[in-house]
Amino acid sequence: MSGVRVSPERLWSRLMEMAEVGATPAGGSNRQALSDDDRAGRDLFVGWAERAGCSIELDPVGNLFARRAGIDADAAPVVLGSHLDTQPTGGRFDGVYGVLGGLEVVEALNDHGIETQAPVEVAVWTNEEGSRFAVSMMGSAVWAGVLALDEVRAITDRSGVSVGAELDRLGWAGSAAFAKPLRAYLELHIEQGPILEASGSSIGVVTGVQGIRWFRVTLEGFPAHAGTTPMDRRRDPSRSLADALSGLHEMASAHAPQVRLTPAMLASEPVSSNTVPGCITFTVDLRHPDAAVLEGLDAELRARVADAAAAHGCGHRVEVINDCAPVVFDDECVQAVESAAQRCGFAYERIGSGAGHDACHVALTAPAGMIFVPCQDGLSHNEAESIEPEAAARGAEVLFHAALQLAGTAP
Ligand SMILES: [Zn+2]
Repeated sequence: MSGVRVSPERLWSRLMEMAEVGATPAGGSNRQALSDDDRAGRDLFVGWAERAGCSIELDPVGNLFARRAGIDADAAPVVLGSHLDTQPTGGRFDGVYGVLGGLEVVEALNDHGIETQAPVEVAVWTNEEGSRFAVSMMGSAVWAGVLALDEVRAITDRSGVSVGAELDRLGWAGSAAFAKPLRAYLELHIEQGPILEASGSSIGVVTGVQGIRWFRVTLEGFPAHAGTTPMDRRRDPSRSLADALSGLHEMASAHAPQVRLTPAMLASEPVSSNTVPGCITFTVDLRHPDAAVLEGLDAELRARVADAAAAHGCGHRVEVINDCAPVVFDDECVQAVESAAQRCGFAYERIGSGAGHDACHVALTAPAGMIFVPCQDGLSHNEAESIEPEAAARGAEVLFHAALQLAGTAP
């Protein structure tokens, strides 16, 4: 790597040091949101950030911002960030890489004595994973005004401890303003999927995040004796289920390769093996990057379920239980990442994100973009999650150049 500004060794050794906080026997990390391990991870980060000359600020939901001053003190900052909390059996890189990559940009600016017009901040969002407190991307949601602070503080974990109680215990309920104006937000992240690895690209220039809609489908038949009821006298929702599932998969095939369709959580009632089910329910996780196509798929799903129910004399209901609109990232941010990848001479491609990220919420109020690097076998939310040190360095280098372009240098 010629003309490298970041320090691949420093970045990698910090990734490994952070992984020791809440280390699991199988080589991953367990730093669930607002736990003592989450605090220990943040303390490690804050120590590094303060030694790099950053000032630290917390907002009322515990989102943390480490700020490197700019030439223009009043300019809106360029913010680089992600999360330090993990799944219970999380990997070493999901989230952590974006935070420590952001810090590495600050360190590289210091190393090379570069002053930026706009301040550069590193953000650590609270509770991205949503495993202990079951709302994912929680901190960025409150920051962007998607969720109310009071509502989030009242959320409890399985032992009844609330977000609010933990924020107070940890001293993380700060006073920084939500949704302050940003020059730009960039999130560096492992891909968590197999596409970059398969195509041999070092960098994914992320153009957006696909929309996600969850449905609960109910098929209503009539419970009857499995032995005495002739087949032609039944209203059996399992027949509607079979038609509905094959119809939905047919729909998905017709919209390949961008659509994602996942029927799951199939359940029948009554819970009995010798009764024709009175009712069958299942969920469908439906995803597509284009809002109009997602609407069309929604309508087609409803029509196919209605047909499958009616064909066998069954009733039906389709409810939407979760809905996240597709996100299209800001043109200037996407361009900045793309030209940084070009300048570095790395193989790159434009890519959509299959998973949700804090950047989705930030994008509601500020120009935002993301950078992906390949991870081994596309594996994530797994203790075996792995990236190459060279891949980590390339992503941070692209983040450095993109951030520098957006923050501007001395005239
Ligand atoms: Zn993540």
